[in-house]
Amino acid sequence: MDVLAGAFGGWLAAALGLICAERWRFGLRPGIQALVALVLVACAVALVAGYDGRYPEGGWLARTVGVLALAGFALTFVFRRGVPMETAELPTLRASALSGESVSIVIPVYNEEPNLRELVDRVGAALAPSGASFELILVDDGSRDGSAALLDELAAARPWLKPLQLIRNYGQSVALQAGFDHARGDFIVTLDGDLQNEPDDIPRLLVLMREKPQTDVISGWRKDRKDALLSRKIPSLLANSLISVVTGVPLHDYGCALKVYRAKVIHDIKLYGEMHRFIPALAAEVGARILEAPVTHHARTRGASKYGIGRTLRVVLDLLWVKFLLRFLHRPMHAFGGIGILLLGLGFATLAYLTYEKLALGQDIGGRPLLLLGVLLALMGGQIMATGLIGELLIRIYHEPQGRRLYVLRTAPGKPPRPMP
Ligand code: UDP
Ligand code: MG
Repeated sequence: MDVLAGAFGGWLAAALGLICAERWRFGLRPGIQALVALVLVACAVALVAGYDGRYPEGGWLARTVGVLALAGFALTFVFRRGVPMETAELPTLRASALSGESVSIVIPVYNEEPNLRELVDRVGAALAPSGASFELILVDDGSRDGSAALLDELAAARPWLKPLQLIRNYGQSVALQAGFDHARGDFIVTLDGDLQNEPDDIPRLLVLMREKPQTDVISGWRKDRKDALLSRKIPSLLANSLISVVTGVPLHDYGCALKVYRAKVIHDIKLYGEMHRFIPALAAEVGARILEAPVTHHARTRGASKYGIGRTLRVVLDLLWVKFLLRFLHRPMHAFGGIGILLLGLGFATLAYLTYEKLALGQDIGGRPLLLLGVLLALMGGQIMATGLIGELLIRIYHEPQGRRLYVLRTAPGKPPRPMP
């Protein structure tokens, strides 16, 4: 028993050590990474091979190494988050710092009547002195309170206010998408309609964007977040780590609504369901460069939050989809084909072995569990490969009818393409 435990611990250590070394992102060079992996594997092999019951502590050692490797593996998740996207502090604002820029501010609104008037006034007051030409697109997401009527009333006296009314409550992502579809500015800013984001941060984010012409997205980071600890901050901490690791776009705060985009990146993205949380990851997929900037956050003073703890599960499901999208969108056959061939191969090998037993050794194979396994593997392999083929077909349908390009070109800002000679 102890031998088994020792062997198991050793192999666990080896496997985790390998993954660990692969994941290790403390700036280790590939050579050192490989060395770490080798040493760990050597330790594990020595433990398994050398353990023959004479050294009872061997089992413990193996298990300790296993546990340590596990802890190391977990730690890499934590520390990988510690290597975030580039961050930058918000600059201070000078008058007319944004003259010549055009900005669309998109805010989804669902039952925010008590906040609307102040929201509109503060956004207006924040943008007016900046010198930018701006429009504020308030998308009413089928509110049931007086938000829609109030929006019309507010818009009457403000030429820059553009209310959009959705006929029912579609959810925050669709509301944002409606706003993006109607936005005409070169920059698009999003924020929440509940005044939890600070409108004064908008021009400062835009100045930062202007200072960094290579950046396509600036994502707000509610460094000093004013929300409930148990139902908001802790789930969000976990969610941010998970999303960062899975998408490979490490951000501290995916949930912050306050973000600035160059319009060209946002117009290449379509939002469904509750995908707004993943816009930075989706934007990174089309090649956007992302920066994170700490922004001010306030507690909600009026109106109620629209989300409960139930969104955690939806975030995880959405994340699965995003991962799939990021990974498979361009080459489904590669993604599925590999697993398919592997399973198919295993299945055939199993069945070939059984055939040999039946024909050469004359054994009964009808009731063997191995037969079931072989058939199952072969079937699954075939199915998965077929899925890859269908995926390829769908990708063509996805990209071609809308003339959607597979790539986005980075043109130097303000430099028109060279004419033909
Ligand atoms: N919202 C929306 N449609 C919805 C739910 C929310 O447009 O179905 C808007 C809401 O009015 C607010 C923003 O999305 O402007 C964020 O919602 P909330 O403040 O309730 O989320 P929390 O800050 O609690 O995460
Ligand atoms: Mg809020």
